[in-house]
Amino acid sequence: MAGQLIDGAALARSIREQLTQTLAAAAATGAARPGLAVLLVGDDAASQVYVRNKVKACAEVGVASTLLRLPAQTSQDELLARVHELNQDPTVHGILVQLPLPPGLDESRIMAAIDPAKDVDGFHAVNAGALLLGQPGFWPCTPHGCMRMLDTVPGMQSLRGKHAVVVGRSHIVGKPVALMLLARDATVTVCHSGTPDLAAHTRTADVLVAAVGRAGLITAGMVKPGAVVLDVGINRDSQGKLCGDVAASVAQVAAYLSPVPGGVGPMTIALLLHNTVESARRHALA
Ligand code: NDP
Repeated sequence: MAGQLIDGAALARSIREQLTQTLAAAAATGAARPGLAVLLVGDDAASQVYVRNKVKACAEVGVASTLLRLPAQTSQDELLARVHELNQDPTVHGILVQLPLPPGLDESRIMAAIDPAKDVDGFHAVNAGALLLGQPGFWPCTPHGCMRMLDTVPGMQSLRGKHAVVVGRSHIVGKPVALMLLARDATVTVCHSGTPDLAAHTRTADVLVAAVGRAGLITAGMVKPGAVVLDVGINRDSQGKLCGDVAASVAQVAAYLSPVPGGVGPMTIALLLHNTVESARRHALA
């Protein structure tokens, strides 16, 4: 029997509807709209699509977004100056620097320059450290989206006694999702390109998160029957069709599976909006 799909698109829609209502109610009391500034440097095609989707989503829920397009030749100092301006701007509650940056720009220095209180992507070392220590901060949107999807699966609110396996260890997905699973009391294994016999690990997973970027890496034989599988990967198959890291055949083995498209992707944008609205709320209280 085929596993159930975890409908990230529907869940993301409901998060966005809630945010729309919250912002409409706040506007009725005269509260200022939350503001998100998006910095796009250069003309990477995929980044342009991602940024367009984020700006559109902001407009739909009532977040004021500003897109700052800068040429690929922008210097490190110029970009840092723009980030500092946005840090000081009281109408901006969230700052997002679309990655990857063109060659010559030091990603880690730029990210470090963002005010952690406006780091709605959750990539700043202060927010990464807060996640590690279990302190309040901004969680990165994609792993947070994974956890919200897991919330919709019966019996997954506590992961005590369960084994979670994360394939991929990037700063933006693999490592933070592993910490979030650990905070929910799962026993967590993190695999990467140097892990021998990947299947031996994934086959023991009650919760399997695939965050690699390789179409079809996770096949049915690598999945424990009845597992919950979250597919973070975004790839193109040989026909150019969008697909994740998990092969279609896994649906016959897993109890629950997030699809690509329509799974983690829409959740990432919904959680970005959530973080921006939350940042505006915190700034209003400060
Ligand atoms: P990275 O390239 O930064 O990391 C990929 C990870 O996969 C690395 O840790 C790498 O190991 C590991 N890896 C590579 N090959 C293998 C292998 N054969 N077996 C086991 N592990 C392997 O990617 P990201 O984390 O940024 O993104 C992962 C995927 O998720 C991509 O497809 C990306 O497009 C997608 N993504 C989707 C988002 C969404 O909103 N849905 C948001 C962000 C990303 P090592 O560290 O050893 O190199």
